[in-house]
Amino acid sequence: MASLMNPRGLLLIGDGLGDRPCPELEGQTPLEAANTPTLDRLAREGECGMMDPIAPGIRGGSDTGHLSILGYDPFQYYTGRGPFEAMGIGLDVRGGDLSFRCNFSTVDDSLVVRDRRAGRITEGTAALAAALDGMQIEEVTCRFKESVAHRAALVLRGPGLGASVTDVDPHAEGVPVPEARALDPNDAASAKTARIVNQFVRRSYEILKDHPVNQARRAAGLPPANIVLPRGVGLTPHLAPFDRQHGLKSACIVEVGLVKGIGRYLEMDVIDVPGATAGLDTDTEAIGRAVIAAFADHNFILCNVKGPDVGGHDRNAAGKLAIIEKIDTMVAQIFAAGDEGLTFAFTGDHTTPVTVGDHTGEPCPILFWSAGVRPDPCTSFGERAVIGGGVGRIRGRDILPIMTSYMGVQEKYGA
Ligand code: ZN
Ligand code: ZN
Repeated sequence: MASLMNPRGLLLIGDGLGDRPCPELEGQTPLEAANTPTLDRLAREGECGMMDPIAPGIRGGSDTGHLSILGYDPFQYYTGRGPFEAMGIGLDVRGGDLSFRCNFSTVDDSLVVRDRRAGRITEGTAALAAALDGMQIEEVTCRFKESVAHRAALVLRGPGLGASVTDVDPHAEGVPVPEARALDPNDAASAKTARIVNQFVRRSYEILKDHPVNQARRAAGLPPANIVLPRGVGLTPHLAPFDRQHGLKSACIVEVGLVKGIGRYLEMDVIDVPGATAGLDTDTEAIGRAVIAAFADHNFILCNVKGPDVGGHDRNAAGKLAIIEKIDTMVAQIFAAGDEGLTFAFTGDHTTPVTVGDHTGEPCPILFWSAGVRPDPCTSFGERAVIGGGVGRIRGRDILPIMTSYMGVQEKYGA
């Protein structure tokens, strides 16, 4: 067996792990009803409690939840979905860049919006995006990349740009494409951004209208994706790299682009796992193998299994329960490879109840396992089983200090 770094930490997130009582599970949650012998053993040997990913009652997203859990206050650093979506699709985004979410849309010759989603185009967007990527307008570089279906992201990098501009996307059809404008007419930086965005939109129309992808779409009777409409601007925050914050050598083994993008932005080593589908059918055994392998040259791993959130959104209690049991087996696999020097934490990034089908604000259960923990009276792992555990009720930003203290790698605060 390859040697594993000691000490080392594994922060395992079951995405959307938390839940509420389910009628079809006789009032239990999927986690409570699941057969989880390994998590229950670790709860007996470890220390448990409740964890509010952001703050009590806040309905977080996966982006804000992970930022908080990794120690970056989202109330300070989260500037909207634009920058995080751009990171998530693999655009090179840096602190100070302006990011927009975009649609490929269909306009007529008078620039009236006919279809905001260009017939929900699924093919050819990479070629369309490549035709726009790298455009220079004044001294600003425009990076542009397609996401899924009609979605895309635009990143502006250059001096003197302001983030207070209106959307170009009119959020309606049958109306002309509006111009971006500065919210405050005296804000010269935002006026500059508006000018650049308006030029980008105009040029996107000139470049895309007769692009071969759109000629083929017209010939097939499909609406051409002949313009890009940006919205939801966000100023990319300056975040200190994760390893520098904590003195760690970290890896990020996660399934969804949004969280991968955060890991990449924090300069963690992002490791892709073949077979990780981000669905209920994901190969948790392959994810477990990747975690074990990564411990050969990393001393901290953030791992996220997306399935519980998928089960929650689909209101699929049986599916959520089944993926939780697969996670339990994966944890057993990781411990079987050697637990000496390991500090382990398991929790969720938010609660996604199957009775709701979306995120809610309850805390997630959390457990810490390490050689030095003081075991508490908790004998199993579940939303209610951890109430009264030794951890009490903490916030996401408390997790890393607790783990690095157990790992013995935290600098002393004071003399
Ligand atoms: Zn999530
Ligand atoms: Zn979700």
